[in-house]
Amino acid sequence: KKSSLSEVKVAVVGAPGVGKSALTVRFLTKRYIGEYDHQTETKYKHEVLVDGDPILFEIFDTCPKNENDLPSHDTVSWADGLLLVYSIIDRQSFAFVKKIVSSLANCDMPLYLVANKCDMVHLRQVSCEEGAILARDYDCGFSEVAAAEQVAAVATVFQELCRSVLVSRRK
Ligand code: GDP
Ligand code: MG
Repeated sequence: KKSSLSEVKVAVVGAPGVGKSALTVRFLTKRYIGEYDHQTETKYKHEVLVDGDPILFEIFDTCPKNENDLPSHDTVSWADGLLLVYSIIDRQSFAFVKKIVSSLANCDMPLYLVANKCDMVHLRQVSCEEGAILARDYDCGFSEVAAAEQVAAVATVFQELCRSVLVSRRK
């Protein structure tokens, strides 16, 4: 397909403030800083082992300007897979993910649905079940995570999307 076997391009998409940068930085550095640049779209390269094989991740941390700023055609066609991120404490961000997927029309690319900020259960607006049902609709993986608190669970999300990309290439 677009990149060689060991390269996997992931675009991290979702509404402003859901934790796209926090998740990306957590995966890249295992660290959580708390405040992230809100303006600059950044592409990172990161080599890790997935199931024992070296994978060169290219990660595009997108920065939509508002809740109507859907990922561009360029971003979607660049990516091998999309990490769809919403926040469990922001129902609008859940709706934004649905808007993104409808805008993809019938381009069937690997997706992974991430519900971030699950440490904030007291402010929850989107149930875990709603997320799971949406992921079933999209036929993609789903996890609730907290970039603020978890390292392994965040890495798993990127690895799972990577596995889906590799599987889709073999078809
Ligand atoms: P982005 O606009 O989607 O890139 O979101 P950011 O990564 O900049 O995060 C937005 C805000 O949410 C920041 O203040 C983060 O510290 C905070 N945040 C990100 N992830 C979490 C999380 O898992 N839990 C909590 N409580 N806050 C988070
Ligand atoms: Mg950001």
